[in-house]
Amino acid sequence: MLKSWTQLSDVQPTVAKIVVNSLRRDRIAHAYLLDGMKGTGKKETSYLFAKSLFCKNRDGEDPCHQCVNCKRIESRNHPDVHVVEPDGNSIKKHQIQYLQEEFSKTGLESKQKIYIIDHADKMTTSAANSLLKFLEEPNQETYAFLLTENIHRILNTIISRCQPLSFQALTSKRLIDKLVEQGYSPSISTTVAQLTNDMNEALELLTDDWFAEARLLVIKLYETLQVRPQQALLFIHEKWMPHFPDRSQLEIGLDLLLYIYKDMLYAQLQKNEEIVFIDQLELIEKQSLQTTQSKIVDQLSFILQSKSRLASNVNAHLLMEQIALNLQEG
Ligand SMILES: [Zn+2]
Repeated sequence: MLKSWTQLSDVQPTVAKIVVNSLRRDRIAHAYLLDGMKGTGKKETSYLFAKSLFCKNRDGEDPCHQCVNCKRIESRNHPDVHVVEPDGNSIKKHQIQYLQEEFSKTGLESKQKIYIIDHADKMTTSAANSLLKFLEEPNQETYAFLLTENIHRILNTIISRCQPLSFQALTSKRLIDKLVEQGYSPSISTTVAQLTNDMNEALELLTDDWFAEARLLVIKLYETLQVRPQQALLFIHEKWMPHFPDRSQLEIGLDLLLYIYKDMLYAQLQKNEEIVFIDQLELIEKQSLQTTQSKIVDQLSFILQSKSRLASNVNAHLLMEQIALNLQEG
């Protein structure tokens, strides 16, 4: 749970600054559009904002989290805070109409009313038009929070009526923490966070058996090249190529190979906190003792060159054989 605006400013300084300023000056916009990737804190921010507006014992701009209003917002049952979410794949017109009917009544507890529309880009056209009318005639103390991961799918006429709050992508450290919180191992979370900083994409990779197998094959290839180099070509033929039939897949494979060689460099520099394949630390440290930094740098640049050659029409199988030969020569 997001506790304070100071806590938000650690990860989303711009958003926190805008919100704190408007709370301090008591100039709250009637509608906010919170956009950013999954996991960046949009929903938590909208709840913290709602609490700040309703809290009976606010401390500066921060809500107390203890009063009846804070507690009801936290448990999602405050009568004047409504949350709209997609019903199936979309947010439908009747959901917005229901909101309008509710809001035409006087606030149950106070005059203030808040609505939060999650995945606002999933509104059907008629729902969006209905909302637009609502935004055009704002009630004095009605506040809207529209949340989206796809701002380009929101009508411009809606965007222009909202104060934008743009959430930055997660840093890889934050993304790793979030994935580990969800129960994924630190080693696989760290690997995935090298390939994307989008929480959705990260979760897709993590639930993809192909990716888990790809990661294992990269470790096997590395081990083979380092420990049993004479078997490397056979490994490429029999195990590697069947798993990476497409260029886009091979690209991920080469990215992962790049990271495991980078890890060897970090091990040499004793920067173990940077290591991606942390579950292979022992192997990586052992191998790093048997090579030199300049050799590793050469190997890294060869993998990078190969990756860029992949974009042209090179034969993928041949390319992998060249990589294997180059890396085993060291
Ligand atoms: Zn409170």
